[in-house]
Amino acid sequence: MVRHDVVVVGAGLAGMRAAIEASRYGADVGVVSKLHPTRSHSGAAEGGINAALGNAGEDDPQQHTFFTVKGSDYLGDQDAIAVMCEEGPGDIYELEHMGAIFSRTEDGRIAQRPFGAGGAPRTCYAADITGHVLLHVLYEQLVKSGVTVYEEWFALDLVTDGERCVGVTAWDLVRGGVQGVEASAVIMATGGLGRMYRGTTNAYACTGDGMSMAWRAGVPLKDMEFMQFHPTTLKSNGVLITEGARGEGGYLRNSEGERFMFNYAPNAGELASRDVVSRSEQTEIDEGRGVDGCVLLDLTHLGAKRINERLHGSRELAMDYAGVDPIEEPIPVRPGSHYHMGGIDTDVWGHTLMPGLYAAGECACVSVHGANRLGGNSLLETVVFGRRTGAAAAQDVRRNGTGGVFSPSAAGIAERSIGRLLDKNDGERPHVLRQELADAMYDNAGIFRTAEGLEACKAKVEELRERYERGVVVQDKGRDFNTDLIQAIELGSMLEMADCLVTGAIARTESRGAHSRLDYPERDDEAWLRHTLAFYDEGQVRLDYRPVTITEYEPAVRSY
Ligand SMILES: Cc1cc2nc3c(=O)[nH]c(=O)nc-3n(C[C@H](O)[C@H](O)[C@H](O)COP(=O)(O)OP(=O)(O)OC[C@H]3O[C@@H](n4cnc5c(N)ncnc54)[C@H](O)[C@@H]3O)c2cc1C
Repeated sequence: MVRHDVVVVGAGLAGMRAAIEASRYGADVGVVSKLHPTRSHSGAAEGGINAALGNAGEDDPQQHTFFTVKGSDYLGDQDAIAVMCEEGPGDIYELEHMGAIFSRTEDGRIAQRPFGAGGAPRTCYAADITGHVLLHVLYEQLVKSGVTVYEEWFALDLVTDGERCVGVTAWDLVRGGVQGVEASAVIMATGGLGRMYRGTTNAYACTGDGMSMAWRAGVPLKDMEFMQFHPTTLKSNGVLITEGARGEGGYLRNSEGERFMFNYAPNAGELASRDVVSRSEQTEIDEGRGVDGCVLLDLTHLGAKRINERLHGSRELAMDYAGVDPIEEPIPVRPGSHYHMGGIDTDVWGHTLMPGLYAAGECACVSVHGANRLGGNSLLETVVFGRRTGAAAAQDVRRNGTGGVFSPSAAGIAERSIGRLLDKNDGERPHVLRQELADAMYDNAGIFRTAEGLEACKAKVEELRERYERGVVVQDKGRDFNTDLIQAIELGSMLEMADCLVTGAIARTESRGAHSRLDYPERDDEAWLRHTLAFYDEGQVRLDYRPVTITEYEPAVRSY
């Protein structure tokens, strides 16, 4: 058993930023992460991070706020969006002072490029490896801060004293065995859940564990039905080609060579919002103007120099995984599941409805992305709300003392449940269920949705949950570095989160942002300008709703 004032679960950008800040406020901080910190999915972010620095054109935080609200299809909470956009520039300069090397303008300022639906060139970047650079910079700061990192510890469940969160249980991957981790404040920063879909841009570890831990403990999840599909992913494996490729001037063409986006978004073209571009691509493909299930991302006119300087990593990905050199020929791309707008319901300081529990980053829903996130806003969210949540947790601990009682039996209960999983010798293999889930989600809860498809998906998810409950077989019976065991546990989380996502999607009889219902094609503000809350109810999903916070911008027609 270990104990800290503040325990952060997750060591991506949000988790590390939160840990650094809590430590600055004098808290004794521990970080629990199933991966080594620099292997977190944040490191795969390519395109960049938004902030209204105004280095490449007229810009200010108000403009950033407005375009984020519009991009969210008016579902984002405007007070939270304003916080992110106003504080963003300060966080970028702080990252720079910590050592982040951003790409530069001719006169030496931080370079910024346009991203979809942003309204101004606002995305700061380090070539096309921005996440990699930021993750390493924050890791350096984490090491410097003296925070204790329990890497390759897999968090299993929240521990509560009936009222407040008092820690987590975790499986030590390297040595085997359950550890109790006691804390006065727990911050969830466990990232997204894209792996529940076939052909995703997300890393293997993006399985929604933290959201499901919170849900099972009775904390509501918000807006779970909103899953973003990124317009440019490689057909073979879903690997992302950054939006920066279009930001730098790339074209999307159909099989006839036409730049089709202007038929759908006459003003913004390729730089319309992601939901709009993904739907347009899928329509082209469905209507027979695709190329082998894809459309073409054409960068050839940018020239070798620009591609090598600004999109070097993307060129390598295209050559390695699609066998195409973008200097010479267009890259076949298709929409792929990419980012989850929903998550653990929090306020702008990361508080959840459970005392002692906080959340930040992709696993949280503040909500700043509403029904559709703008490219570049997620990295910004991780640092702004990671910082705020770390500060809030440390200050709350200082004000309120140590919190509740961590029952010593918690670790024993977790140990027995893992023992049961390892002892089981007959049943299905987890990867079979995982693949069936990924197919069902992609086919029926994807870019275009209908009641029929969603009901079929819900039935499938329920069937898979039953099969999972009956027991799956972990073939590796060892305790040391048992990835087979971990994947079986992750599957449980994905099934629960898929249920929350699909249940919310069935109920929402409108089209808004990334949630596009063919049977309800219009946005319906009267009925649906509200957040969905998904509660745990004896293993099932119970929905409730909450109004959206509107401060300045009344919902208007959204066109690009
Ligand atoms: C390919 C790709 C490119 C992207 N590009 C951009 C971009 O250019 N700009 C942008 O703004 N956004 C981008 N995004 C989105 C953005 O990168 C992510 O939303 C963001 O980095 C998430 O950060 P995070 O800290 O919340 O989670 P992550 O970085 O995913 O970290 C999650 C952490 O939680 C830990 N964890 C998870 N479960 C457990 C558990 N059970 N026990 C212990 N630890 C656990 C993991 O070990 C990991 O350390 C991109 C996403 C992808 C997939």
